[in-house]
Amino acid sequence: MNEIARHIETIRHELPGGTRLVAVSKFHPAEALMEAYEAGQRIFGESRVQELVAKHEALPADVEWHFIGHLQTNKVKYIVPFISLIHSVDSEKLLAVIDSEAAKCGRVVDCLLEIHVAQEESKYGFTPDSCREWLRTNPTGKYSHVRLCGLMGMASFTDDEAQVDREFGQLKSLFDELKNSGEVDAAAFTELSMGMSHDYRLALRHGSTLVRIGTSIFGERVY
Ligand SMILES: *Cc1c(COP(=O)(O)O)cnc(C)c1O
Repeated sequence: MNEIARHIETIRHELPGGTRLVAVSKFHPAEALMEAYEAGQRIFGESRVQELVAKHEALPADVEWHFIGHLQTNKVKYIVPFISLIHSVDSEKLLAVIDSEAAKCGRVVDCLLEIHVAQEESKYGFTPDSCREWLRTNPTGKYSHVRLCGLMGMASFTDDEAQVDREFGQLKSLFDELKNSGEVDAAAFTELSMGMSHDYRLALRHGSTLVRIGTSIFGERVY
C-alpha cells in the first residue's frame, strides 16, 4: 500500500459513522489524487477554481468535488455545473450568484455558510451574530436553486487546545441553534464542516460531519 492510501486508511478508522472525509488536494498534482481515488477516496476539496476545473477534467466522473476556499462571484459559473458542495458561502451576494448560475444549469447546489470563530483576523465568513441576523431576514426563501446544508468553520491556529475546543463548541452550538430555529430547512441542515489535519480529533468530539484534511494525507503543500 502506498503512503497516501495508508494515511487515508488511518484517518478513516478514526471517523465515526456519520462523518465523511474530504481529502483536501489543493496544490497536489492529479496523480496524487488518483492514488487517493484508488484507495477508495471519492470526496476531494479544492480552494482555487482553475485548479478545481482542471482536476475535475482529469479525474474519474464519480468524484464528488467540494469547494472550500474563498469563492469570487465572477468564478462561480465555472464550478456550478458539477460542484457537490460549496463549504465557504460568506455573503448573501455570493449565495445569490450561486443561485442564478445554478438556475441556468437546472441544478440545486448544496452550500454551507462559513462562520468566523477563530481569533485570527479574517475578511471572510459570517460572525455568529451576523449569521443569526441575516437568517432572520429569511434570505434562503428567495433562492430556490441553492440548498442550505449547514455550517463550516475553522478554529484558531494555536497549540492552545482549550481555545480550539471552545471554538469548535461555539460552531456546534450555533449549528444546533440554527437547526432548531425554524429559520432554516432543518431536514436539509445536516452538515457541520470542521477539523483539519492538526485539529480534526477535537472537531470530532464536537460532532463534525465533514473533516477537511490535506497535509495528513498528501504531505506538505509546495506553493
Ligand atoms: C487547506 C485547507 C484545509 C486543509 O488543511 P490541512 O492542514 O492541510 O489539513 C482545510 N480547510 C480549508 C478551508 C483549507 O483551506
